[in-house]
Amino acid sequence: EKTSVTLLGLGAMGSALARTWLAAGHPLTVWNRTPARAAALAAEGASVADSAAEAVAANTLVIVCLRDDASVGETLSGTDLAGRDVVNLTTGTPAQARVRAAWARDRGARYLDGGIMAVPPMIGAPGAGGHVFYSGSRELLERHQDTLGVPAGTTYVGEDAGFAALYDVALLSAMYGMFAGTAHAFALIRKEGIDPATLAPLLADWLVAMAPAVHQTADQLRTGDYTRGVVSRLAMQVAGTPTFLRTAEEQGVSAELLSPYFELMRRRLAEGGGDESLTGLIDLLAR
Ligand code: NDP
Repeated sequence: EKTSVTLLGLGAMGSALARTWLAAGHPLTVWNRTPARAAALAAEGASVADSAAEAVAANTLVIVCLRDDASVGETLSGTDLAGRDVVNLTTGTPAQARVRAAWARDRGARYLDGGIMAVPPMIGAPGAGGHVFYSGSRELLERHQDTLGVPAGTTYVGEDAGFAALYDVALLSAMYGMFAGTAHAFALIRKEGIDPATLAPLLADWLVAMAPAVHQTADQLRTGDYTRGVVSRLAMQVAGTPTFLRTAEEQGVSAELLSPYFELMRRRLAEGGGDESLTGLIDLLAR
């Protein structure tokens, strides 16, 4: 007997989630502010509720995937959450998740927050590496593991409802740093007429080769010894920064994405961090 699911929100992500539950045989009730978006899912077997209140009333397990925390508040405020298991997959901040968890509990619901580490094509594609961070009620995740595990893997990160959002934003922030770096790299080769498809595999391999450096960072943060196992000293790296800035200038590329990071490197060096790796920069940020 597959658990019946209510899903509020049929945007790109909500629709992808919905299809995996339908395909796995879970009875599904959906609601979307703009009803037209529910039509295709109705044809695939979903029950379409006329209101969010009606959808919430239909099932114990209520999954929410809306644009932002404000839309969640707007949508759920007109519903009766008493006795419901609310799983909020809407992206928000850790503080928003904590407030929403208390808000839901005040209304008699159990609450689990989720941060989706996947784009819609990775939903329901087990080999694609997508997963969802969950935090809040562990009991709720355990109870609905078979249902919540259908669209993507589940990774529980703690009782604090804000942690799923925190891990989510931490990973995505690192991703934006990577995208910033690759944008600069592509800009450097542009005017030479080099095929970007020549650079792409080299970039991908290099980023993968460099990624394990995060383990050394973690080790240094835990021990407090930022010189532990250092391969490239900060002093050496700072000495190399003019090469990067000059190359950017020669290639007619703005260094605006690199400069703030180089500035932090210089500040840490000035504070006496020359023998460290780059871990000391975290102290400058997290002060
Ligand atoms: P979309 O923009 O495709 O859909 C937004 C959804 O929110 C629609 O169902 C929309 O309804 C609804 N909505 C917006 N405002 C309100 C409101 N005030 N009241 C009721 N409903 C509202 O976004 P996605 O589906 O892609 O994303 C949904 C959530 O999933 C977001 O929090 C996003 O950050 C997260 N996510 C998305 C990823 C992605 O790659 N797409 C990846 C990881 C997380 P309507 O149709 O009426 O406009």
